[in-house]
Amino acid sequence: MTTEMHPSRWGNPAETTALPESTRGLVELALGVRETPAVEEVSMPPVGLADDVLAELRALLGDDHVLTDDEHRRLRTRGKSTPDLLRARSGDLTDAPDVVARPGTHDDVVALIALAVRHHIAIVPFGGGTSVTGGLVARREGYAGVVSVDLIRMKALREVDKESMTVVLEPGLRGPEAEELLAAEGLMLGHFPQSFEFASIGGFAATRSSGQSSAGYGRFDAMVMGLTLATPQGTLEVGSSPANAAGPDLRQLVLGSEGAFGIITSVRVRVKKLPVEKVYEAWNFPSFTAGADAMRHLAQNGLMPTVLRLSDENETALNLASHSDVGGESTGGCLMIVGHEGASVAARQALVGAALEELGGTPLGEDRGAAWAEGRFHAPYLRDSLLDVGVLVETLETATFWSNRDRLYKAVTSALTEALGEKTLVLCHISHVYETGCSLYFTVAAPQADAPLEQWLAAKAKASQAMVDAGATITHHHAVGTDHKPWLAQEIGEVGVRILRAVKADLDPTDVLNPGVLIP
Ligand SMILES: Cc1cc2nc3c(=O)[nH]c(=O)nc-3n(C[C@H](O)[C@H](O)[C@H](O)COP(=O)(O)OP(=O)(O)OC[C@H]3O[C@@H](n4cnc5c(N)ncnc54)[C@H](O)[C@@H]3O)c2cc1C
Repeated sequence: MTTEMHPSRWGNPAETTALPESTRGLVELALGVRETPAVEEVSMPPVGLADDVLAELRALLGDDHVLTDDEHRRLRTRGKSTPDLLRARSGDLTDAPDVVARPGTHDDVVALIALAVRHHIAIVPFGGGTSVTGGLVARREGYAGVVSVDLIRMKALREVDKESMTVVLEPGLRGPEAEELLAAEGLMLGHFPQSFEFASIGGFAATRSSGQSSAGYGRFDAMVMGLTLATPQGTLEVGSSPANAAGPDLRQLVLGSEGAFGIITSVRVRVKKLPVEKVYEAWNFPSFTAGADAMRHLAQNGLMPTVLRLSDENETALNLASHSDVGGESTGGCLMIVGHEGASVAARQALVGAALEELGGTPLGEDRGAAWAEGRFHAPYLRDSLLDVGVLVETLETATFWSNRDRLYKAVTSALTEALGEKTLVLCHISHVYETGCSLYFTVAAPQADAPLEQWLAAKAKASQAMVDAGATITHHHAVGTDHKPWLAQEIGEVGVRILRAVKADLDPTDVLNPGVLIP
């Protein structure tokens, strides 16, 4: 059975914890603590879809797969950004879908889309519900209703081609489910975003996600060899060869399309053999710049490990002080995690280690690396515990070329500090590295104002503008959703916006597919 997340918190409800005393003390000192009462009384908006449409949906999918009860609708309301959590915590469920519909096959999806067009219903594909950019909040004005198209029944491993090392997966498989099916074949995907436990294959493709092992296995879009997309105009199948010159690559039009061009019903991905060995080690660098330069050196000299991440001074200090991630005594400087997976990793470990030492790194050993690997999916649970005690906390990310890294880092840090005040803590890490540049991932914590949602939206707008003004992207892997649209328009310009609108207008002329999401 699929574990469901708490409607207003991250992750498995069984793992919810109060803020550890050690961290609480630190937070009290730095930001102040103010318990925020949980809202117990929440009323769901009534189901807005007409009875005859509901009857048609039931005839199509069966009674068990057309759900209008409060619980299912609440669990499919919005995603898991801090604004989503704050809205849910305040009892605001106005974005709840009228119905949760669960197609079981590609043909069900095609028929569901046709039904939505006939009745002018907004349909929102739902994979794991971990969107952090408002990707699950469709516009409802002018529509007969909103249907959440929950892909939870489409969880098959449909094809395994060990000769070509590709497999075909259905979109509703969550990260661990996909890896479990592949492990039984001696294979793995190697896509481990921090939302791994809940996010789905379809969601990874629709948002162009990137995982913690992207240095070794690549971003999700780089793993995708082919896709099937159900649209109001018919089905698009792309990816019949490992590479081709048959015009623009239409895979790239489907990847990152966030449910606005169609619903992804299967994904062909390249796979790897399960690694024989896994070694993670920690390193210390005297500064963020020294560590970033070392990462650049590895990337530009063919020395990429499987995992490569670097915390700035603030994030390193907090990790060490709270013992939440890597533990151990504070050594100052910046913490780097380097992971090697595969066969005969010792030789590679030695080569990379020698380069890092030469570049000013000090090895801190494998225990701290192993501690990072152990706790790699746990940090998001801490966000809820911090929100509980009145701390505003959220993450945001961007990417740029190496030569612009420092400027971008300073621009975003000052935008956030100016917007949220002097008591703001801005932490940053680099966890996706390329020959030409890297992503910067910020975590922000500040004392909550009386209206925390508006407080965050104002700060996020300033940080987003700082990213675009600094010539960086508005998102390296969180996608666009509704939240990043204004900055996407600035990033891709008028012609870019026209291209997106033209594709949307042709594939979805009545605008029923996730309306309001992605397209500026
Ligand atoms: C705590 C936390 C940590 C995160 N860490 C990472 C990270 O490390 N790396 C990263 O890349 N992202 C991360 N994210 C963001 C999020 O997990 C990714 O965007 C993920 O790919 C979304 O997958 P999902 O299945 O949950 O999609 P959903 O949230 O269900 O949907 C996301 C968008 O894709 C659309 N969609 C979903 N399925 C389909 C489909 N089959 N066809 C068409 N459209 C579809 C939805 O309509 C929506 O617009 C994190 C989020 C959280 C809350």
